[in-house]
Amino acid sequence: MGFKYCDEGHWMDPSWKRCPVCLAPLSGWLVHLKENKPFKAYSIHEGKSFIGSGADCEIRILNIDLSRQHAYLVIADGMCSIVDMGNSGSALKVNNIDTVKTALIDGDIIELGNSAFKIKLL
Ligand SMILES: [Zn+2]
Repeated sequence: MGFKYCDEGHWMDPSWKRCPVCLAPLSGWLVHLKENKPFKAYSIHEGKSFIGSGADCEIRILNIDLSRQHAYLVIADGMCSIVDMGNSGSALKVNNIDTVKTALIDGDIIELGNSAFKIKLL
């Protein structure tokens, strides 16, 4: 096969010895919520993290309502933001407000399709 995964589930080229995502400093977690309760936490690292159902996403969510690359998080200079890639008909919402790109702070609630998340930043 043309790819493998690190222990955290990040996509890796088979020739890579170590996962470049996990080597970046940890910045926090994206917590997947189910019925308003934490269900699964994905570690987020400095740089860009794609969220979607595709195998090449750093944060891979196997939900039918998410596109392969649905949105991405960017963490740089201590700031976190989320950007909707416009690959789906459903709007990105942050704290119940439709958006395509916005800065995030600790505790913000993000909705992508029918999936809800809380961002926990260090
Ligand atoms: Zn990794």
